[in-house]
Amino acid sequence: RAAAGAAAWSGPGRTADGHRVEVLANVADGSAAVAAAATPAAGVGLFRTELCFLGRTTEPSVAEQAEVYAAVFEPFADRKVVVRTLDAGSDKPLAFTGHTAEANPALGVRGLRIAFDDNGILDRQLDAIALAAGRTGSRPWVMAPMIATPAEAAWFAERVRVRDLVPGVMIEVPAAALLADRILAHVDFVSLGTNDLAQYTMAADRLSADLAPLNDPWQPAVLALVAATARAGAAAGKPVGVCGEAAADPLLACVLAGLGVTSLSCAAGAVGAVGAGLARVSFEQCAAAAEVALAAADPAQGRAAAMALLG
Ligand code: PEP
Ligand code: MG
Repeated sequence: RAAAGAAAWSGPGRTADGHRVEVLANVADGSAAVAAAATPAAGVGLFRTELCFLGRTTEPSVAEQAEVYAAVFEPFADRKVVVRTLDAGSDKPLAFTGHTAEANPALGVRGLRIAFDDNGILDRQLDAIALAAGRTGSRPWVMAPMIATPAEAAWFAERVRVRDLVPGVMIEVPAAALLADRILAHVDFVSLGTNDLAQYTMAADRLSADLAPLNDPWQPAVLALVAATARAGAAAGKPVGVCGEAAADPLLACVLAGLGVTSLSCAAGAVGAVGAGLARVSFEQCAAAAEVALAAADPAQGRAAAMALLG
């Protein structure tokens, strides 16, 4: 079982021949961060801040938010932490944003879009992140969810830079993957959200069990967008991570590394298996597996072909 291999892996993330791929943990709050800090994860690749406030009908104050964020920064004081600003809306409605019901919430006002009506929610959250960073001596990377255009990335990055934080965006909308080079001109890193990228690429609701075969990160079209984003990152000399569930599948993790992704962030429980999976293959094997997965007719064929190359 994966857990047996996990116990043997102690980091850092790299293939058998030494190609570095950071293995990071996804967390939802301070107690999850304490648990993740006990793994060999090189840091936090996705802190889903909206999960801290799901039940709230009033906006948490800057001071209250700062306390919640500091509880995640502290256990990772000497490691990287990527904080995601509120990904409200769609499957994660936040009552305090004043957001109203929509006919197609996944295509509605979610993620960074809640900040566009100038309600100050984003600025107060960034103030809280900066306050927590100052208090804990951290310099967090801060990324926005649901970016669709380079202009949105520029707008967000400016607000992050004035607070001396490191700006990035999620690539989870196909439009953003297609223009990743222009987005990367504005930010210091990007992170692929393969859950939503699959949903929007395949036009298949991520919550629909009936559409699960379509909504699959092994879909060659999804992998093609990952590859395009990784190429743009390499050309810009900037990190391209994956923080969707795809990164938790040790086989797919090797394929993503082969596509050129520079970090993988997954549930803390999967960190050991992903790290161990990378450690037993060469980068050349990963690249070959990526090539066959991209060329496959469908997810099942891609997985089988990648498995044959990765053992
Ligand atoms: C994703 O979409 O892949 C992602 C990491 O974000 P979430 O699952 O929180 O939407
Ligand atoms: Mg997402």
